[in-house]
Amino acid sequence: MVFFWFVILVVFMLMMYTVFMVLVWIAIAVGILIVAVLIVKAKKTNPREIAGMDMRCKKCGTETGGMMCPKCNKTFGV
Ligand SMILES: [Zn+2]
Repeated sequence: MVFFWFVILVVFMLMMYTVFMVLVWIAIAVGILIVAVLIVKAKKTNPREIAGMDMRCKKCGTETGGMMCPKCNKTFGV
């Protein structure tokens, strides 16, 4: 009977260990996700880092290649 409770205790500890490991992996995944979002935001602030992407002007849709839109800059203030 003592062995039975010992097995129950071991199984319970293994379950707790599994839950703990899952929580640790979730925490690691969330941390990586936050870092990835921060890197994306940091790259968005510096458009020159994004090479080869289809960068378009938000106002007129002209391809700018990450540079400032020539059309909107010319018509700015008119
Ligand atoms: Zn534009």
